Amino acid sequence: MLGRKALVFCSVVFALLSLGLYFAIAQFFLPYIDKPSLLLMSLVLGGSVSAALYLFIHKTFLEPYKQFKSQFDALAQTGTVSDRLTSSEVAGYSELEESINRLLEQVEQTQKDLQQSETRYAIAAAGTNDGLWDWDLKTDEVYYSARWKNILGLGNGVQATTPDTWLNRIHKDDQARVEENLKAHLAGRTDWFESEHRILHESGTYLWVLTRGVAIWQDQKAIRIAGSLTDMTKRGYFDPLTDLPNRNLLEDRLEHAFEKAKRDSQRKVALLFMDLNRFKIINDSLGHHIGDKLLQELAQRLSLCVRSGDTVARLGGDEFVILLENLESDAALMHIVDRIQRYICSDFKIEGHHIVNSSSLGIIPDIAGYPDTSEILRNADIAMYHAKNSKLSYAFFDPTMHKHVVAQQKLEIELRSALNKGELHLVYQPIVSLNEASVDSYEALLRWKHPVKGYILPSDFIPVAEETGLIVPLGEWILREACNELQKQQPNDITTVSVNLSGKQLAQPDLLERITIILQDSGLKANRLKLEITESSIIEDPERISVVLHQLKALGVQLCLDDFGTGYSSLSYLNKLPLDVLKIDRSFIQDMVSDKRSLALVRTITDMATELDMKVVPEGIESLEQVTLLQSLNCHYGQGFYFSRPVSFDEAKKLKQKPKGSTLTV
Ligand code: C2E
Ligand code: MG
Ligand code: MG
Repeated sequence: MLGRKALVFCSVVFALLSLGLYFAIAQFFLPYIDKPSLLLMSLVLGGSVSAALYLFIHKTFLEPYKQFKSQFDALAQTGTVSDRLTSSEVAGYSELEESINRLLEQVEQTQKDLQQSETRYAIAAAGTNDGLWDWDLKTDEVYYSARWKNILGLGNGVQATTPDTWLNRIHKDDQARVEENLKAHLAGRTDWFESEHRILHESGTYLWVLTRGVAIWQDQKAIRIAGSLTDMTKRGYFDPLTDLPNRNLLEDRLEHAFEKAKRDSQRKVALLFMDLNRFKIINDSLGHHIGDKLLQELAQRLSLCVRSGDTVARLGGDEFVILLENLESDAALMHIVDRIQRYICSDFKIEGHHIVNSSSLGIIPDIAGYPDTSEILRNADIAMYHAKNSKLSYAFFDPTMHKHVVAQQKLEIELRSALNKGELHLVYQPIVSLNEASVDSYEALLRWKHPVKGYILPSDFIPVAEETGLIVPLGEWILREACNELQKQQPNDITTVSVNLSGKQLAQPDLLERITIILQDSGLKANRLKLEITESSIIEDPERISVVLHQLKALGVQLCLDDFGTGYSSLSYLNKLPLDVLKIDRSFIQDMVSDKRSLALVRTITDMATELDMKVVPEGIESLEQVTLLQSLNCHYGQGFYFSRPVSFDEAKKLKQKPKGSTLTV
């Protein structure tokens, strides 16, 4: 191209020069030279100069340019920015070459950097197993990575370039929320876009995914937004039974809510820890299948109690956590707490079974006061236990609860080793025949002699043992100990021993077998053992307990209802259960002398129990006045400090040997 231009240029020079020469020469030499010769001379001279000019241009400019161009073309064709132009071959172009080579160096470096960051990104993207998307907001075109399509079950070949591929697949219940989150980010109200939602998979099912993205801005307008898609189902964020978020996701959201709460003090974030009160009983009696259905139904009900943006998560078993965000007032919190309780207390109908339930809630009303999230869940759990143990439907966490738990844990550790170190022993308190002033039987009571703290009262450590389940092995040891001690005695020394049985022991499925083995091992006749159970342990599951009690009765063991009047008395079960003895609680006996109503109650209970063929034993008799009063009510037995405090087995035997009618106080 340039060659042709040079040729045209030289031809023009040739024509103009020849013409110029012709007229110039003609002016001086025309009289001596004829015109044709003059023309020929001008043409030869003009041609020579033009040819020389062309040769000069060609050699000086065109040839190096050609060489340079062919090198440059070869470079462009290979596309390898690592090659360089070699200046030695192309004279005159060295400066340009140097500049180009410098440019190539820069391009090479940029390419390397880009490659490195692309590789890094590709590794990171593959590592997280996330799908990627990139939305050009100006053209409304979206790039979806192969992994993105793969998550949704779309083949790689599927053409997807519009936002609808994503937006139209979002579950209709989640659409508004996703759009709201997206708008908030594109309007610059949030630092990034983030939304968890369900999305339609090609198989027709919905997946839980997390979409995150960040916009790119130009002139304060978002022009592009790109981000990732995470398959939450695969990453273990959901509980497979209820489809609710699990602990992992809850912790993520709690972290998020915590950060938000720190920034915005206007809106409170509360956390509720919920546990069902009778789930174990339902599971054991109706089977796991019904238990699972109950949890599913419960999950649905709880989800109805909260607002969008709140989280209902299942931690496992019957433990649920509810994270309430954006609470505008304490009243709003209490409104939700109230709703949860109503929803849970109303009947569940599952495969023909009517299930009545209640729950215990531990509440952290405002998580913002915490230094970090680690203690929030733990404290809510502590508050929930407090509510459960205090038979409250809910309790707000307060720091004394934590102190109490720490003390309990310490006590539990000490109690575990107390058994092995021989710090525990039994004492026996006589149950006396009031008319004959003789010992009828004994109640075995546990004592703990702590090496440093001295005697620790059962009322201080039995509840800890109950709570931790330690009461089961402990209770078994007590039974064994009492049976062995009694069996070692001469037949008439001590006839019968009452042993207190905890509700936890009563709930053991193999209680009957365990007691049978203890009786066999000790050789004690079953009718010399009396088991004391409390009303509260019956109330947990009256029907199942009734079966257990009938089985124990059939074994020959006697049964006694302890602390009567303190529990949630339901008289209806009294004649259904095979009870031999009814113990009237100490509180009635104490008040009986001064309070007519207590006296009336003792009278009524005594009459009723006698009617039902049960022996009545008032507990906690401390004075002769009480004895006299009880005798007047036709009470034939009694127990209390007036007769004797609980004493060692050997002392108990001596009491038995005292002559009739004497006071038994030792
Ligand atoms: P309980 O079974 O009702 O035992 C009677 C409690 O009343 C005993 O307290 C006894 O010492 C006390 N007591 C008896 N007469 C009087 C009296 O006249 N005045 C007063 N103020 N108290 C009297 P203790 O030994 O402190 O036991 C308290 C509770 O701890 C028991 O109540 C029982 O529920 C539980 N407990 C004790 N030993 C055992 C055990 O071996 N197993 C289980 N599961 N619980 C036990
Ligand atoms: Mg008792
Ligand atoms: Mg009692």
